[in-house]
Amino acid sequence: MLETLYQEIILDHYRHPRGRGHLEPPKIEHEGANPLCGDEIVIELRIEDGRVSVVRFHGQGCSISQASASMLTEAVEGKTVEEVRQLIEQVYAMLKGETDADPETMGELAALSGVRNFPVRVKCASLAWHTLEEALNMANEVGE
Ligand code: ZN
Repeated sequence: MLETLYQEIILDHYRHPRGRGHLEPPKIEHEGANPLCGDEIVIELRIEDGRVSVVRFHGQGCSISQASASMLTEAVEGKTVEEVRQLIEQVYAMLKGETDADPETMGELAALSGVRNFPVRVKCASLAWHTLEEALNMANEVGE
């Protein structure tokens, strides 16, 4: 039952992506790729007063990579950079099976935990989060 629910959540985000699009400058933009599967994700975001005020993505690839990016935009918008970094770590831990996928704390992101037994799929699911992490590191370097 849970697996079916998780698949439905992923397909829904894939077919009706949230946060898909582009931002006008000023913005931080970073591209990530998962050559194993052919997934490409570009993350665009703006940081204002220490918060990720808005985040958009575009790209192409498998349903898991695109659904994960869609969920990411919903999950991080409005959070402080520090909170976003913590969430990224929580997602990595969940995808690697180090922590349980608790819908109470992870919300819809728990649906991504279905990939944890499939190493190639873990890369699909984590691509958007890696790209976001690198974008935040870029923001640090330019002092935003
Ligand atoms: Zn993929």
